[in-house]
Amino acid sequence: MRLRHKPWAKEFIEEHPEYVISSPCQKNTSWKEIFNNNNPLYVEVGTGKGKFLDNMSVKYPDINFVGIEKFESVLVTGVQRVLETKPANLKFIHGDVNDLLEYFNVGEIDRLFINFTDPWPKKRHEKRRLTYKSFLSLYEQALRPHGEIHMKTDNQGLFEYSLESFSKYGMKLKNISLDLHNSNYDDNVMTEYEEKFSKKGQRIFRLEAYLSTK
Ligand code: SAM
Repeated sequence: MRLRHKPWAKEFIEEHPEYVISSPCQKNTSWKEIFNNNNPLYVEVGTGKGKFLDNMSVKYPDINFVGIEKFESVLVTGVQRVLETKPANLKFIHGDVNDLLEYFNVGEIDRLFINFTDPWPKKRHEKRRLTYKSFLSLYEQALRPHGEIHMKTDNQGLFEYSLESFSKYGMKLKNISLDLHNSNYDDNVMTEYEEKFSKKGQRIFRLEAYLSTK
């Protein structure tokens, strides 16, 4: 992904603590307290410019959403977006998915979304893929028992790798689609990258994964 450096992004983000939790060590608090309700918590890792979660937050007002994005210059667009739409049920974390357990308590997340994350096709970069086993272990800890991971990608290689990675980890898979936009799944909310890739005619792959034994 090409990043445009925005030197003002850091300050802009810091000016909006109502939407971006900038020091997200949540061990002593819970997201229920932050949102001030007991609604379920859905998290997107690598949220980018936040379009998916912004639309999800409108469609599902009784669910709390949190997006994690590591680059300020990308996240800032999400912050600008929510300053317009003003959702009460959406917050962002400026941070790294590797630190997931700094941001969430064990078993706190109800559902996790992995949308169009970087495929890191080179074998030597396998550990960076957000469906590598070390990430699955973080997700397992942060998810509630039977919590689900929903993944979408345009990248067949990453999708095939992820099917195997989830499965080797002991997760069960369901609702697998090899061509989401030509399937009977009618609950889809598009992400920024999904719009971009599907306009180019690329197929979208989707799966749901969960641990049945937890
Ligand atoms: N999910 C969005 C979508 O579907 O439009 C954005 C997809 S974009 C290709 C992937 C995003 O994940 C980038 O904005 C990148 O900075 C972010 N990302 C990648 N690895 C990350 C990590 N370890 N922690 C937080 N964000 C990460």
